[in-house]
Amino acid sequence: MEGVFLLLGSNLGNREEILNQAIAALEKKGVTLVSKSSVYETAAWGKTDQQAFLNQVLQVKTEYSPKKLLGVIQQIELELGRVRKVKWGERLIDIDILYYHDQVINQAGLAVPHPGIPERRFTLIPLVEICPDFIHPVFQLDQKQLLEKCKDHLNVSVVEDC
Ligand code: ATP
Ligand code: CA
Ligand code: CA
Repeated sequence: MEGVFLLLGSNLGNREEILNQAIAALEKKGVTLVSKSSVYETAAWGKTDQQAFLNQVLQVKTEYSPKKLLGVIQQIELELGRVRKVKWGERLIDIDILYYHDQVINQAGLAVPHPGIPERRFTLIPLVEICPDFIHPVFQLDQKQLLEKCKDHLNVSVVEDC
């Protein structure tokens, strides 16, 4: 399966603006946008006493290896002023690699496909929007099937005008 997919998340500041800044920063570093999902709002996952998250899935085209792409993403998180205090705490921007074609990577500091995908509606719903038939290389299920099996019940709603 061909396709590199990223998840953007923000729950601080002007969240829409920050998602757009992240896309611009990726493009500036040569990561080309192929398609993007709608922007979705979800109550904070894992740690619930904070502002709701906006999430968006991007399909991108890149020459970077997964490891190099992770480095680029982390640099952008820093540039956009992410301050990480606690695990799953508030952040201006979070960028995760969801899928890198059909590669399966389990290294220190890099797991692809992202292990959170099957249990997170806020990730699966935008994936179903832009790549419903993309097959998860480990579970051999497409995004629609993963969503059907997902036990997460957090409400995920489209943000209009994004
Ligand atoms: P989660 O990964 O559960 O969504 P998080 O995004 O809040 O949690 P971070 O604090 O942003 O976690 O990242 C912790 C580490 O995860 C990063 O330093 C990075 O090395 C590692 N990591 C492993 N796999 C990935 C991936 N597929 N995409 C992005 N980071 C990853
Ligand atoms: Ca994340
Ligand atoms: Ca992350």
